Amino acid sequence: MASIFCIANQKGGVGKTTTTVNLAAGLAKAGQRVLMVDLDPQGNATMGSGVDKRQLKASIYDVLLESSSVAQARVRSDKLVAAGCGYDILGANRELAGAEVELVDVERRERRLKAALTEVEHEYDFILIDCPPSLSMLTLNGLCCAHGVLVPMQCEYFALEGLTDLVNTIKQVRANLNKDLAVIGLLRVMFDPRITLQQQVSDQLKQHFTDKVFDTVIPRNVRLAEAPGYGVPGVVFDPSSKGAQAYLAFAREMVERIGRL
Ligand code: ADP
Ligand code: MG
Repeated sequence: MASIFCIANQKGGVGKTTTTVNLAAGLAKAGQRVLMVDLDPQGNATMGSGVDKRQLKASIYDVLLESSSVAQARVRSDKLVAAGCGYDILGANRELAGAEVELVDVERRERRLKAALTEVEHEYDFILIDCPPSLSMLTLNGLCCAHGVLVPMQCEYFALEGLTDLVNTIKQVRANLNKDLAVIGLLRVMFDPRITLQQQVSDQLKQHFTDKVFDTVIPRNVRLAEAPGYGVPGVVFDPSSKGAQAYLAFAREMVERIGRL
């Protein structure tokens, strides 16, 4: 059975998508069977996995509205397969922004994704869900079917404050919709050790959240930011770069942690 994880943080631009695609590719490289679900209408994880969001025959939108199954809608990117990092992609595009409204009157609307994934779960070791920067119905769908949440965060002054809302949402979801949901860990991303404030916030995080903070730290690295322009994750674009090496180490840490669950 797959381990299902949401990559979530209600802030935008904190590295959710970068983490999702690089972890997916890193896990695939390590021989894990991975499905990446793009739950963000921006479709960045789709494009960053080498799939043109404008060319999708079916997407996560169709899955949520039950006009397609996951098996029909998922695709693969030849580029990633050729690099030995192939994973399945359930893509998203702008259409998904309408799902929120269209699902308003639907019963059990926050469980649509869970129902759809049940059919394919046994085919994967990991299902990674890239969430939008909000605590919306889309994010709820992700949280409803996940075993855990990975929270990428930058070590900045307001980082801890933003975390409170997410932690409260997770508590509510656990109480009402998904009692198994847990925060798997906080991942420090875009880290620059030369900045004293980042070191201080990083130390605070470890004090507060102890073993919930992943050992791996993702540095700020321009190769990770360049990769989406080439339609591949950083670990495929430049495997020897510091950013790629960190994400590969993170994939190994994830496999170890899951083994210990
Ligand atoms: P989110 O999905 O949370 O909105 P993204 O993953 O899209 O965040 O990242 C926001 C921006 O920061 C993107 O331009 C991305 O390429 C860049 N970025 C993410 N992680 C890093 C990193 N470790 N080093 C440098 N740039 C990064
Ligand atoms: Mg994103």
